[in-house]
Amino acid sequence: MRFQAILRLKCSHCCQGAVFRRPFVMHRTCGHCGIVFERERGYFMMSVFVGYVMCFFVVIPVMVGLYLTIRPSMNGYLIGAVVALVLAIPLIFHYARVVWLHLDELMDPRPNPPT
Ligand SMILES: [Zn+2]
Repeated sequence: MRFQAILRLKCSHCCQGAVFRRPFVMHRTCGHCGIVFERERGYFMMSVFVGYVMCFFVVIPVMVGLYLTIRPSMNGYLIGAVVALVLAIPLIFHYARVVWLHLDELMDPRPNPPT
């Protein structure tokens, strides 16, 4: 259930409400359960580290793929990595925040908000 919610960019508390209103713009609260996504100022700074790890999962397969196919020069690897990361930025941005929300919910569950 939680894995599906992460894949579908859903709320970490109820796994139902959408986290993003439109690309790169989050809802302030969950439309389904009402929790505030940003618990405190700077809350999403930790998602930068999650995104950093995700970058490795993008770059390493590209590097291995380049090595196994065309074996470019060092600049070729660098260009391949940059192109892959630029193309993956939207996915990494969205999934880093949602993965961070879910990790934080697992480590420090929120009480149900008053209705
Ligand atoms: Zn919710």
